[in-house]
Amino acid sequence: IGRIRSLAQSADGTICTVYGNIRSHLDVSLINSFGGDGVGLFRTEFLLLEKKIGKFSIDLQQEEYRVALEKNKGKEMVFRLFDIGGDKADISDFKNEVNPALGLRGVRFLLANPDILVGQLTALMKASGCRELKILLPMVSDSSEVLQVNSVIKEVALGLRSQTGEMLTRILVGSMLEVPSSVWIREAILELVDFVSIGTNDLIQYFFAIGRESEQDYTFFQPTHPAFLNIIHNIAISAKKMGKPVILCGEMASNPLYTPLLLGLGIRIFSSSPREIAQIKHVIDKVDIKEATQHAQ
Ligand code: PEP
Ligand code: MG
Repeated sequence: IGRIRSLAQSADGTICTVYGNIRSHLDVSLINSFGGDGVGLFRTEFLLLEKKIGKFSIDLQQEEYRVALEKNKGKEMVFRLFDIGGDKADISDFKNEVNPALGLRGVRFLLANPDILVGQLTALMKASGCRELKILLPMVSDSSEVLQVNSVIKEVALGLRSQTGEMLTRILVGSMLEVPSSVWIREAILELVDFVSIGTNDLIQYFFAIGRESEQDYTFFQPTHPAFLNIIHNIAISAKKMGKPVILCGEMASNPLYTPLLLGLGIRIFSSSPREIAQIKHVIDKVDIKEATQHAQ
């Protein structure tokens, strides 16, 4: 554990990727020391929740993203746009909703607050320079949300180009699949994006109608329920069919007990908490995917 290592490869030779999830640039070195392949999920809202940046300051965001990219040494980094609301609602100035988990959360919040969305996109594009930029949309429940954000991304990129005269950053856009409606229409969403990422924490919450904070209540919070495994398998099938990468970035990705099962369901890209990366890679190295697939079936 802790050694620098290469990509994980299953016993039968399939290359897999294990990224880490971060909350600020401070976590990037942890991923490096546990042999991660990059950052699969930057939960940028924690910059606000943990008061690492002032309220939506574009300059402070830009500096935070620039440092994170620098520490990541050219490896992949997926920036998820602010997932504000729900269990991450504790940001002043916004009204508390009666039922925040079912309210103005993630991409809904961003589309309702275009200044915040444009500010974050500006900071991300400026920090990336002409490098490739990967942006992930939280809590997508309908393809119209992806279309709307895509058009804002285009506007911001064109605006920056006309201001600076610089080349456009290459931008790849991904959608979280963590709301059942978006899973149901996954192929329509896959058409519009470059990659998808399964958020098992919220997907379990909204699928079984059990609060994610009730994780201790295993009666209802069931990552291995056959109905839920079927969902993961079907997402993997659709993504493969459409030639788009699928990352699994919820807590399920951080538990090595689930790794063989997830491989058997078709997952090849994991994003776990940084400290689990070496262990997850170690398990992948031991698994024969054909056998895992039979077990998963
Ligand atoms: C998830 O919902 O599984 C996820 C990765 O996002 P978050 O835990 O930040 O809501
Ligand atoms: Mg989530």
